[in-house]
Amino acid sequence: MKLGKWLQQQDIDTSCHYTFAFIDEGAKREIRRKTLKAIAIPGYQVPFGSRDMPIARGWGTGGIQLTLSLIGPDEILKVIDQGSDDSVNAVNIKAFISQVTGVRLTTKVQEATLIQTRHRIPEEPLRKGQILVLQVPIPEPLRIVEPSERETRRMHAEADYSRMWLHLYENIVAYKEIMIGSRYPVFVNDRYIMDPSPIPRWDNPQLHMSEGLYLFGAGREKRIYAIPPYTDVKSIEFRDYVFRVEDFGEATCCRCGSKNTFLNEMIDDRSGKRIYSCSDTAYCSNLLDQKREGYKP
Ligand SMILES: [Zn+2]
Repeated sequence: MKLGKWLQQQDIDTSCHYTFAFIDEGAKREIRRKTLKAIAIPGYQVPFGSRDMPIARGWGTGGIQLTLSLIGPDEILKVIDQGSDDSVNAVNIKAFISQVTGVRLTTKVQEATLIQTRHRIPEEPLRKGQILVLQVPIPEPLRIVEPSERETRRMHAEADYSRMWLHLYENIVAYKEIMIGSRYPVFVNDRYIMDPSPIPRWDNPQLHMSEGLYLFGAGREKRIYAIPPYTDVKSIEFRDYVFRVEDFGEATCCRCGSKNTFLNEMIDDRSGKRIYSCSDTAYCSNLLDQKREGYKP
């Protein structure tokens, strides 16, 4: 049931009983304070008091709390899920946020002041003043080598990342290359190893020296971390086993014909053949429109 309808049924006067952007002002202030700390120490995971949201934890509550604590009435919001503006998660988050704030929604990256996303960063680079909020399931990059929270905190504090390097080395010994598809760990500001959330390797270079601000929110794990603008972000690698992004070979997008975007693989129902399309749907549609109008880059 929609929130507005439910409030009406309860005979609650919405004008005085629920705050702009759903979360109470005290909670927003706390989240903003923790966000400022995260910006001041790039890549460091700051604990915060994660609130209950009207969706289950693990469905983007960390990202939503960041967005709701930062959003103002003049903001223009874009929400994407796996690169798409129209998938279930994105559509529902958009519906909820617009219901509790009344802000303008957009699908265009350039138009948006605040972008919330899961599993992808838009192909178009962020510009100055923009904020991109990522929903994070597991904020701890060292969890694959160490189950204890206390121990991972010590490892971060002492910059003791030897076990992470060993893990990568073992990967190379077993598979002849580093077999990490998404959540490829990065070094932020030459200090902390950070989990960039489950984005493909393709998106990692976008984090480096970006003009915009990246914020990461993990609701279930109660952590916020950030990459401020113009921060040095390196995907971890060995001198002889360098980091590389996904290679799609000769594949092109079946809609816009693009060769330099992250592609999703599908099977064509009619021909049974493998086809590809851009994962970033807004970028794809924009390119298609430009082609129709005869735009030559
Ligand atoms: Zn395309």
